[in-house]
Amino acid sequence: RPMILWFRRDLRLSDQQAVASAASSGRPVIPLHILDETMGGAARWWLHHSLAGLHRDIAALGNRLVLRRGPATEVIAGLIAETGAEAIAFNRSPDPAVAASDEALARRLRQAGIEVITSDGGLLFEPGGIRTGTGQRFRVFTPFWRACRAAPPPAWPLPAPEALPAPSTPVAGDKLDDWCLLPTAPDWARGFAPCWQPGEAGARARLAAFIRHDLRDYGARRDRPDLQATSRLSPHLAFGEISPGQVWHAAHHALARDPARSTGVERFLSELGWREFSYHLLAAEPEMPRRPLRPEFARFPTLRDDTALRAWQRGLTGYPIVDAGMRELWQTGWMHNRVRMVAASFLIKDLLLPWTEGLAWFADTLVDHDVASNAASWQWVAGCGADAAPFFRIFNPTLQSRKFDPAGAYIRRFVPELARLPDELIHAPAADPDRAARHGVVLGRDYPAPIVDHDAARQRALAALASLKQEN
Ligand code: FAD
Repeated sequence: RPMILWFRRDLRLSDQQAVASAASSGRPVIPLHILDETMGGAARWWLHHSLAGLHRDIAALGNRLVLRRGPATEVIAGLIAETGAEAIAFNRSPDPAVAASDEALARRLRQAGIEVITSDGGLLFEPGGIRTGTGQRFRVFTPFWRACRAAPPPAWPLPAPEALPAPSTPVAGDKLDDWCLLPTAPDWARGFAPCWQPGEAGARARLAAFIRHDLRDYGARRDRPDLQATSRLSPHLAFGEISPGQVWHAAHHALARDPARSTGVERFLSELGWREFSYHLLAAEPEMPRRPLRPEFARFPTLRDDTALRAWQRGLTGYPIVDAGMRELWQTGWMHNRVRMVAASFLIKDLLLPWTEGLAWFADTLVDHDVASNAASWQWVAGCGADAAPFFRIFNPTLQSRKFDPAGAYIRRFVPELARLPDELIHAPAADPDRAARHGVVLGRDYPAPIVDHDAARQRALAALASLKQEN
């Protein structure tokens, strides 16, 4: 009697506990994936290619990935009735909303006599496991991460199985193409393919390249969007094509071979730590994607301005670094972390729009969209989260641009209409419109004039914050 092996955001064969459980069960295995209908557009593009890769990898083990859509409970019950499966293995989701329905499902299946094997999945440290000395949850990152570093390290990664025996009767499923995950006309994702290789093989190649070329100087170079110095593992991690444990151990292995990498490794691991921390916060506050963790911010006086929102989404704010970031996002499905912070700050503080609008846009356009990291990061920038940057610390987009994209290479790449401006003008063409025009960039014609004045907007944001405090 077969076992169902349910793949979710863990689309890999190595270091995958559910896969290992199924492979060692002695049963024929039915690999299953159920479409998550809530996924954003860019993530659907990624999912298509990731599933195609997993399909090939499973075929190489002599089996076939079955694709189904519909509510998970019904799909699984249907599959059990159809195939006589007696067991199911899956990794629990670190998203508490999903984990709650996982538990209900497991209970119901067990009551029906089905063997249910669940495992932890997706994180280095399970959210419940890391606590303060008095058993409380951490609300500040640094002590949280210190406690993680003092805890036993994640288990050594499991190898991929050598075989995954198929049931004697093939199980029918949907065709991947019939899910229509890829955009058609217009193909807004045509810029994605040159940037990414979704799937487990692509994830490993990306990790190896990062360790070889960029890990050593990661700490010094990670804030520079013009250098491409970070790992770009985020979509691979978000889809579980590589486990954080594999990344962790690979970084330690690299460190053992070259101690000069120690600063880079520590810094890199602490970024993985922010991913852990985000899930830790989400476990404590499942409403984090919708509600500010600091309740007083629910009354923050935001504006409704669809024109400004659209200008931000399309990279037409007149602030080159913000526009470069938003266009990088649209063209490649990803944005550099420093620029994410600047663009998010601009939406929240310069435009005074609700952070949830930015969160929703990112959820739809990021290939690495991750419910915990996205919500925790938006709340961090908005100053309404746990251990957040204070609201009054407002990024100056022009200064950020000068500091982190000094020669304007990043802006030139994503805002090509500004490419011919000299370095000192490219960060803020509106500072000297006549000179910009002499270089062939007429504001309002070739590139938008700034949609807000940063200094005035900053004062407006601080006044909004003060009004919040007065009401308290
Ligand atoms: P690296 O610098 O190589 O870091 C390695 C890994 O650590 C990343 O792949 C990621 O998994 C994790 N990581 C790094 N920084 C953070 C962080 N600040 N918070 C949580 N995890 C982090 N990251 C997402 O994965 N999904 C999101 O939806 C997401 N939304 C964000 C929204 C905003 C407003 C901001 C400011 C940040 C957001 N981030 C998100 C965090 C961060 O920008 C990305 O994880 C990072 O840019 C990914 O690039 P990388 O893989 O090259 O990172």
